[in-house]
Amino acid sequence: MHTGSCFCKAVTYEIASELSNASHCHCTICKQTHGAAFASYAEIPPDALTFLTGEDLVTKYYSSPTGYRMFCSQCGSNLIWARSDGDSTIDVALASLDTPPKTAITRHIYTDTKVSWLDLNEHIKDEN
Ligand SMILES: [Zn+2]
Ligand SMILES: [Zn+2]
Repeated sequence: MHTGSCFCKAVTYEIASELSNASHCHCTICKQTHGAAFASYAEIPPDALTFLTGEDLVTKYYSSPTGYRMFCSQCGSNLIWARSDGDSTIDVALASLDTPPKTAITRHIYTDTKVSWLDLNEHIKDEN
């Protein structure tokens, strides 16, 4: 069981399943819709997701003919991406979880479109 929320906390959700196939996605759509170098998602069964609050604020945007993104229309937080063909899984944006995965996620996908300014092999050093 997991819970999550958007940044402004208007939208909250519950996931009644485990997370599977977590990855960092470097595809062009994830990069641009997140405004970030990559997006981190894990798969869940569609019926495992329940919105607890703010479902009316969740906007669905078709980022390609075969898939859509769901985000909070108030603060813009990405929450879900899903295939419109009724796939057996949908993907939850991992950074929206209040209950994050317990283990490190090392799988990177679509790295052929990775931004040039990110080095996946560099040692992470917090310079704040
Ligand atoms: Zn929000
Ligand atoms: Zn992607």
